[in-house]
Amino acid sequence: MSECVFCKIVSGEIPSNKIYEDEKVMAFYDIAPKAPVHFLIIPKQHISGVDRIDGTNSKIISEIFETITKVAADLGVDSYRVVTNNGTQAGQTVFHLHFHVLGGGPLGDMA
Ligand code: AMP
Ligand code: ZN
Repeated sequence: MSECVFCKIVSGEIPSNKIYEDEKVMAFYDIAPKAPVHFLIIPKQHISGVDRIDGTNSKIISEIFETITKVAADLGVDSYRVVTNNGTQAGQTVFHLHFHVLGGGPLGDMA
């Protein structure tokens, strides 16, 4: 998956402002923040999006959410929104599963 920007971040080929990493997941700040705190959390394994989650890989989702809780607490953010876009029409631009975590101030309304 050498053309995937987030795989390149995982491998270190592209630098990132990393917040957390373990053997399965990684969290780093979004390069174009849309809130005072905006980080992304990704599986290190390449999964193109939510529509590729199945019984063989879904355990990573609980690990991602456990890590969101931990990272947000470490950053002192206790009010936040978790967003994932699946598909072009939903606004997905990077086809490696990722969850946006937005917080650090008022976010406004959103569905
Ligand atoms: P999405 O549009 O939901 O696919 O989200 C992709 C996100 O990745 C956007 O918010 C981008 O700003 C962010 N992004 C793209 N490239 C990088 C990068 N090299 N480092 C950090 N964030 C990135
Ligand atoms: Zn990837």
